[in-house]
Amino acid sequence: MTNPVRIQPDLQFIKDLQEVGGDTLKKCYQCATCSVACPLSPADNPYPRKEMIWAQWGLKDKLVNDIDIWLCHNCGTCSDLCPRGAKPGDLLSALRNMAYRNLVEPAIIGKWMSSSKYLHMLIALPAILWAVIWLIRGSILGSFFPYFVEDGHGWKVAQEGGNVIYGGLFPGDFTIDPLFGLTALFVMWSFYKGVKKQITSFDVPRTLVIGGEKKEKPSIIKCIIDVVLDEIVTHRKWKQCGYETEGDEQKFKGHWTLFFGFVALAIVTSVVAVTHWGGKIIPFLAPIGHTPMVLFNPVKILANVGAILLLYGLTMLTKRRLAQNETKHGSSFYDWYLLGVIWVVALTGLFCELLRWANVAGLAYPMYYIHLVSVMMLIGYLPWSKLGHLVYRTAALVYARYVGRVPMAAKEEKIFIL
Ligand code: SF4
Ligand code: SF4
Repeated sequence: MTNPVRIQPDLQFIKDLQEVGGDTLKKCYQCATCSVACPLSPADNPYPRKEMIWAQWGLKDKLVNDIDIWLCHNCGTCSDLCPRGAKPGDLLSALRNMAYRNLVEPAIIGKWMSSSKYLHMLIALPAILWAVIWLIRGSILGSFFPYFVEDGHGWKVAQEGGNVIYGGLFPGDFTIDPLFGLTALFVMWSFYKGVKKQITSFDVPRTLVIGGEKKEKPSIIKCIIDVVLDEIVTHRKWKQCGYETEGDEQKFKGHWTLFFGFVALAIVTSVVAVTHWGGKIIPFLAPIGHTPMVLFNPVKILANVGAILLLYGLTMLTKRRLAQNETKHGSSFYDWYLLGVIWVVALTGLFCELLRWANVAGLAYPMYYIHLVSVMMLIGYLPWSKLGHLVYRTAALVYARYVGRVPMAAKEEKIFIL
């Protein structure tokens, strides 16, 4: 006779889970339709049925250490087919949201990211920071919204009749670059700590056993290449995971274009930073990324292409979220926060450019301030935000391949190829 297992439910965990989007978990009666329907679930010990019962029982430790929550691509097939109207796809999404919240310190930011009632705190931190910098800079120069004129020796402050130069409001060398540089270092360090914690917490066998035989693990480099090609660059798994309705198509196109929009803008930012700072040592680099740029500068063209991709991806994803809110799949604050911040970043960036061309300092500089606040909200809170899944999900997918927890669709492909 086996010993009885004592289950100690974490009631607060169930409540928290319901708050961040897993509010239908009580409806599940364990028919397993969802696990059968999921196109990505491994054949062995599949998800999401088991996660539904663990959630009902409040088994927090099992759920937060469950690698399977990261294998789900949230296509909603399981939720569509559930005979009880439970939403297992949303539950897994809510679990991932909870995971971001607890992977990195300070955990209070994770708490702020979980509900709209803390949005003012998320805005206040970067808003105060940039306002203080603006006040210090304005006091030093004796002018808060200046124009700039070129007098043959460089740009000089003028009260009117010159050009809007954003670098004059927040000089790059002394404000933007050090502040974003420190923020980037903080974000990278937080991701390093978060991923380390995430990987060590996974409750999976550390040896690879297939068909009862112990196998040698694949190299981690191969796993990374497979995930990058199979899941990230081509977004191929997204097509295997659903892609039947208009909403699925919007989601695919939205994510795909948003991803490449961010890649383009990341390249532009890197070129500007490297040529600006590298130009101080190797002078011929300096003009390449010098700002403001003319419209036909290749770096500027790439920046505009990135902005267009970003706006297109945002439109697709927003349409899908709005449609979801009208149907049975709702969207959590995490989803709307991310979409909202990216919208503000993209639109304020666009208006900054237009207002600079129009040379309207009274609007251009406040717009630039809002742009910087929103960029800081996007980058500074990355390790706690939905966008953090780019890093955490990639890490989990790589590790899942490393320990042989391969999604069913990938297994089928391999069998087919052989
Ligand atoms: S979530 Fe729905 S489909 Fe899945 S086991 Fe529960 S009742 Fe069945
Ligand atoms: S991948 Fe799709 S079907 Fe599978 S659990 Fe996630 S939402 Fe459900």
